[in-house]
Amino acid sequence: MENDFNKAEWSFFVTALKEEARDVLWKVGSSADPETLLKSVMPDLQDLGPRSEDTETRTQEEIWAQVRSLLLKAAYETRPYCIKCGECCIKGSPTLDVEDIRLFESGRLGPKDVYTVRKGEIVFDTVHEQSFINDKERIKIRETPGEKSCIFFQKGNRECVIYDDRPVQCRIQECWNPERQDVSEQARPLNRKDLFESTDQIWKVIQRHEEKCSQENFSREISRLGATKGQTVEKVIELLSFDNHVREFIGERMGIGPEILALFFGRPMRDFLEYYGLTVDQDNDETFTLRPVSNPESD
Ligand code: SF4
Repeated sequence: MENDFNKAEWSFFVTALKEEARDVLWKVGSSADPETLLKSVMPDLQDLGPRSEDTETRTQEEIWAQVRSLLLKAAYETRPYCIKCGECCIKGSPTLDVEDIRLFESGRLGPKDVYTVRKGEIVFDTVHEQSFINDKERIKIRETPGEKSCIFFQKGNRECVIYDDRPVQCRIQECWNPERQDVSEQARPLNRKDLFESTDQIWKVIQRHEEKCSQENFSREISRLGATKGQTVEKVIELLSFDNHVREFIGERMGIGPEILALFFGRPMRDFLEYYGLTVDQDNDETFTLRPVSNPESD
């Protein structure tokens, strides 16, 4: 490749390559030597080099993107294991796989450690940094209140307190490797049926609640609200009241708090109103009043 460049261009190119190698190694958290990395990929780099003017169809940017991609792939190979940096633990908690049921059986996880994300909920994907509608029910480990980090991540020493028994997703996801970040399709998510089908009474209540208060029913009624200019508000109130009543009844009857109720029934339906610019007030006599969230800028 050197013959195609003059000396100054070659020296500039080599310096830029070293910088790029240093950068990709840092990005994947590898302590490998940049020069060793470059030597290991030199034959492939030479294949990527600019061709003669009449056969070259790539722009400079495209060539450089190919070089970077090659270096990044080689950098991953220098660090093919978890270094417990805690990056994935801070970005969000794992979704459990059906295999993780063993963690409940061994007592490593309890009902207060997890919650249900129901089908149809609006959720935020920390890998792609965008919201989407959840396509199937999932059970997730709880996040630290007010943050996205997993409850099992200790910030002080940056350690997972259940590392040796961590869920499947934490084992297979390689946060340093974009090709292995999206593991959502590689596993069969755990759901409430897996956990509660054998507990006859609880499972019946969960099913009855889901039948009446599914997220699909809720978003359909919210959409109708707009289409009917508020005339169907009673339908939304009915869902909110039913959801609230079931939680209060089961909470009192079983002596359980909001964490376990969020596993049985998902997050309270009223929590989702904000996505639609709405909120609800509840009087002492348990009457619900739906109203738009006031915009401080327009007050
Ligand atoms: S279970 Fe452990 S490894 Fe998995 S996200 Fe939580 S703190 Fe991190």
